[in-house]
Amino acid sequence: MNIVVLVKQVPDTYSERRLTDSDHTLDRESADAVLDEINERAVEEALRLQADHGGEVTVVCAGPQRATDAIRKALSMGVDKAVHVCDEVLHGSDAIATATVLAKAVGTINGVDLVLAGNEATDGRVGALPAMVAEVLRMPALTHARKVEIDGTTVKVERETEEGVFFVEASLPAVVSVNEKINEPRYPSFKGIMAAKKKPVSTLGIADLGIGADEVGLAGSWSTVLSAAPKPPRTAGQRVEDDGDGGVKVAEYLVSQKLI
Ligand SMILES: Cc1cc2nc3c(=O)[nH]c(=O)nc-3n(C[C@H](O)[C@H](O)[C@H](O)COP(=O)(O)OP(=O)(O)OC[C@H]3O[C@@H](n4cnc5c(N)ncnc54)[C@H](O)[C@@H]3O)c2cc1C
Repeated sequence: MNIVVLVKQVPDTYSERRLTDSDHTLDRESADAVLDEINERAVEEALRLQADHGGEVTVVCAGPQRATDAIRKALSMGVDKAVHVCDEVLHGSDAIATATVLAKAVGTINGVDLVLAGNEATDGRVGALPAMVAEVLRMPALTHARKVEIDGTTVKVERETEEGVFFVEASLPAVVSVNEKINEPRYPSFKGIMAAKKKPVSTLGIADLGIGADEVGLAGSWSTVLSAAPKPPRTAGQRVEDDGDGGVKVAEYLVSQKLI
């Protein structure tokens, strides 16, 4: 059972996150960078499945040089090896370009049975990469999984959305994205941290993946951020005095805001 986990380094949600003024891309230098928490859960799930079914777990990450820290964190949790796509021309890639790169990087790994990802990254929050990667790889996509099981050559998933819980399954190989209910990720042990230093990380540029510079980055992307503005500060709320008619006043306010 060979599992690939797509992992992304993101700005720590505790840091102040901002976009650069010059090209409206993420200002990665202004915030502490961490392995996205949802990807820790995807890694945990891969390790859990590996414990039951054997095989190898590989993480694939597209990101700048400093993303090696996120990769090392995954390796220190117990992942066997990593592929890091690191190329300056990737800067500003949109979801479609990123999905193409990730799918090609997965394609460099032999005999992949399952690709795991988070359902949504905490920075871009596009929430579409796993389905896009599945499309490029021509694999079934099972998204928003809160439970994953392997039964022979079938993957069975409990898919949770606002509409309810769905029980879906697909033949392997498949792409599965997980939600925050899937598990509690382990902390890397001291032994794991030391072992991670010696685990193989293969670093690839886009030329190694047969991708042209005009297919990625700001110039090669299908979507462009034209302008960005910081969120306005929160304004004081409207106070309702309850003189026996508080409920009516609240209802009138909600009607005026077209909320009911
Ligand atoms: C503020 C901001 C706004 C953006 N707006 C847009 C937009 O409107 N349209 C657009 O097309 N792009 C946009 N982007 C770019 C987009 O975020 C990147 O292309 C990104 O890599 C894909 O989107 P995501 O990370 O939000 O993916 P999601 O689909 O939210 O991520 C889901 C999962 O995919 C995997 N994954 C995502 N990126 C990587 C990676 N680089 N390496 C490994 N695994 C990964 C992870 O497992 C992750 O948990 C935006 C980026 C930022 C920072």
